[in-house]
Amino acid sequence: MFISFEGIDGSGKSTQAKRLARALAQRGIEIVLTREPGGSPGAEEIRRLLVEGGSERWSPETELLLFTAARRDHLERLIRPALARGAWVVTDRFADSTRVYQGAARGEQRALVEELHRLMIGLDPDLTFVIDIAPEVSLQRGQARGSPEDRFEGMGLDFQHRLRDGFRALARAEPQRIRLIDGSGSEDEVAARVLAGLP
Ligand code: ATP
Ligand code: C5P
Repeated sequence: MFISFEGIDGSGKSTQAKRLARALAQRGIEIVLTREPGGSPGAEEIRRLLVEGGSERWSPETELLLFTAARRDHLERLIRPALARGAWVVTDRFADSTRVYQGAARGEQRALVEELHRLMIGLDPDLTFVIDIAPEVSLQRGQARGSPEDRFEGMGLDFQHRLRDGFRALARAEPQRIRLIDGSGSEDEVAARVLAGLP
């Protein structure tokens, strides 16, 4: 079983991915908890190329290729081997992030994103939780933890609203795979909603 968590920056994805991984491990399932961009040594190197440097470092096309290269390595080295031995993989972000960030919100490249996904990745999770939250709320939480130092920082509220709209549109388009989870309230409350969304 392959499960992803998606959502805007600071929506609580990694918190909920960890909690679900813990809950599933307690049921005796082998869990591989991972994240993107990154998740394998090569992909973590590409992550550094992506998040360091100014906002003009890469063109939208090069950025898309780097995210796809990182995902391909993550898939080859970590995800496919884990699934092949029967482990469950829980990842903090996967291809839906690219559909929304590189495909919809940061320049219109939807067709290119889907084509590259088909050619180079060819796999979607069995189940995806989109943690849905108002950007104003995630921003407040982010301020509580201190600001991130990556190059995507400070993209602004408008951008986060476009991302949220993009994730919601994906959830509407693929209701079988994608569960839209209300990300407001305490970590415990959100975790209970995620568990209730398991098949
Ligand atoms: P990013 O996209 O930046 O990696 P994320 O979506 O993985 O972020 P988290 O790192 O899980 O989000 O959470 C962001 C911050 O909000 C953290 O400081 C975390 O402790 C806090 N947080 C997560 N869930 C909740 C919640 N339900 N209520 C309050 N704070 C929360
Ligand atoms: O989720 P995480 O904080 O680890 O992502 C690192 C940075 O990369 C974030 O600023 C996020 O907005 C950005 N990102 C992106 N496109 C993706 C995935 C993440 O711009 N497909």
